[in-house]
Amino acid sequence: MIVLKSQDELGRMRKAGRMVAEILELLRRKIQPGVTTLELDRLAEEQCNKWKARPAFKGYGGFPFTICASPNEQVVHGFPNSQPLVDGDIISIDFGLIIDGFHGDSAVTIPVGDVDETTRRLLDVTKESLELGIAAAQPGGRLSDISHAVQTRVELDHFSVVREFVGHGIGRQLHEDPQIPNYGSPARGPKLKPGMTLAIEPMVNIGAPAVKVLEDGWTAVTIDGRRSAHFEHTIAITEDGPEILTRLDH
Ligand code: MG
Ligand code: MG
Repeated sequence: MIVLKSQDELGRMRKAGRMVAEILELLRRKIQPGVTTLELDRLAEEQCNKWKARPAFKGYGGFPFTICASPNEQVVHGFPNSQPLVDGDIISIDFGLIIDGFHGDSAVTIPVGDVDETTRRLLDVTKESLELGIAAAQPGGRLSDISHAVQTRVELDHFSVVREFVGHGIGRQLHEDPQIPNYGSPARGPKLKPGMTLAIEPMVNIGAPAVKVLEDGWTAVTIDGRRSAHFEHTIAITEDGPEILTRLDH
């Protein structure tokens, strides 16, 4: 069942989304060669504590950290660790929190120092596929319009969309209905309505789409070892179209 949010609830989701955006921006500004993802994890948790927000991922299904930190060939759900980031790396940071009973969830892939041309294009295309997916989230449209917009943009550049992980509804729960695949034909699935709140999150590989989960039970990596990027926003569908809740200038 897809839960529609009232105006009051949307107001609380705006607050959650804004906090997520500000914390991700705080982390983004720290990222440079030599920084560890464990440092970023602590920073995110400290900021949550200051704002009396609760990290949404820590303890979720047993996940042990505040952020997911997935470098290079890691797709999603990587564990923060004490290994310093190196010039030329990319690092995907996924972060969510809960405040006043509602969640925000967002992810970004950030280059560390100078990255190669293909990697740069991977980041641009993945980000653009998210923007196009969001633009397709129009009241009166259908859920798979989002999926189709993402896949079309990704494959235009001959990158591949990860199938095993999907976007999701969000609200009082981190993961609500519906699931939002990043691939598929348009004009299928539930009708999009004002009051729906969705986390749209393309995961895009340079090489083959196949992924596997490592022995820690969480870290998803590409099977071919090539790089992967992940961008995510929490949005609300309004009468006027999509509103991005986890954008900084919101
Ligand atoms: Mg996320
Ligand atoms: Mg998500």
